Amino acid sequence: MAASIDRDRLSLALADERDVFASRHPNSYENSLRAQQHLVTGVPMPWMTRWPGGFPVFFEEAHGAHFVDIDGNEFIDFCLGDTGAMTGHGLSQVAEALAVRARRGITTMLPSTDAVVIGDELTERFGLAKWQFAMTATDANRFVLRFARQLTGRSKIAVMDWCYHGTVDETLVIMDEKGNTISRPGAIGPQVDPALTTRVVPFNDADALDKVLAHGDVACLLMEPALTNIGIVLPQPRYLEKVREITRRHGVLLIIDETHTICAGPGGCTKAWNLEPDFFVIGKPIGGGMPAAIYGMTDEVADKLEPYLRSDGVDVSGVGGTLTGNALALAAVRATLSSTLRQEDFDHMIPLATQWTEGVRSGYERHGLAWNVQQLGCRAEYWFCPPPVNGAQAAAAIDGELDAFMHLFALNRGILLTPFHNMALLSPFHTEKDVDTHTEVFAEAVNVLMSA
Ligand code: PMP
Repeated sequence: MAASIDRDRLSLALADERDVFASRHPNSYENSLRAQQHLVTGVPMPWMTRWPGGFPVFFEEAHGAHFVDIDGNEFIDFCLGDTGAMTGHGLSQVAEALAVRARRGITTMLPSTDAVVIGDELTERFGLAKWQFAMTATDANRFVLRFARQLTGRSKIAVMDWCYHGTVDETLVIMDEKGNTISRPGAIGPQVDPALTTRVVPFNDADALDKVLAHGDVACLLMEPALTNIGIVLPQPRYLEKVREITRRHGVLLIIDETHTICAGPGGCTKAWNLEPDFFVIGKPIGGGMPAAIYGMTDEVADKLEPYLRSDGVDVSGVGGTLTGNALALAAVRATLSSTLRQEDFDHMIPLATQWTEGVRSGYERHGLAWNVQQLGCRAEYWFCPPPVNGAQAAAAIDGELDAFMHLFALNRGILLTPFHNMALLSPFHTEKDVDTHTEVFAEAVNVLMSA
């Protein structure tokens, strides 16, 4: 029988780590108290409350794969702004391009020539013919959903159970036991009953998808090619091929959101796995940390859409925004794509992710724990159970207390992991030594839980 951890020991160890954390971060603590006065939830954005330790670490500066907090503590950053800084922090090419552009005008409602260069580069990387900009991946997804409804005349969209595509109303859903669409736990203020807008299907279940799309009211399927937001759930062999065949058969447009799965390589999973989406979305790392996102489409889709997008009412059509496609964002995207997220970067990052994965595996196998670690390109994540095949299994496997302990134990030893799960991203700036440090700290954490 597989070994298991002792919950009493875990609770005590977590309390110890909370004490260590408090003693190491007096300045962050003081700022967190001051911030309670005039910032809602004491942070600039509510997710920033979700770190272990009781109050957030305020950061001073970040370079490459490392950062320093306001108490002078140094960290290896495996979170990388939850992918926003997958390229590494403070890229000099991006910083220079931003400085030059900022002095020459940021936003004019006119295109800058960077857009032309970027369009060529995107087609080369991802294969789709036509491109457009958005401020965030959330934005890009909202626009693409609107296009899909317009083009098909159908009212609903389909998503994967336990997906995450940003704060897009229709996607903040899960499936109940009977297969009905309900709001995601924690979703605030749904506009309408989400069953009116969305059908939900389990990942890795082609038959369920076929059945749901047979209703004939679904405009598009929005999905990540591997789930990454409920931990990494990889597609089973031939699943994505079947998804493409089924969506085509039902006249449903396929939207692939590669905001996280760009970790698979310079062309994301779309290029690596020969996916053939109708629409493509990516945000976060595409601007090297600057808010910018893009969406792409095939020629066939673009031909149908362009008449709407050239019409007189386009400025109030619900797509785009005043600052969208501003020259600063375009400069950031151009500098990012020309200096990082290239094959040579992935040739460094992916082997490091493999090393991270193997290090974690050796740490839990030595104790006979039936834990698991999954890798997708330069992203890797561990689980306290066998690998889930869909989002519901993944959600059921979450162990909040154990997560908090592993995160805080790592943080107290100079390692930052992504707060919502046990994930690491490797950037072009990480080194084998950084990964070895994680391997040692992970093994030490497991030893604390398992030793008598
Ligand atoms: N799509 C995916 C797959 C994501 O993981 C996220 C954010 N985690 C988003 C879209 C939304 O990105 P943003 O919050 O930058 O709008």
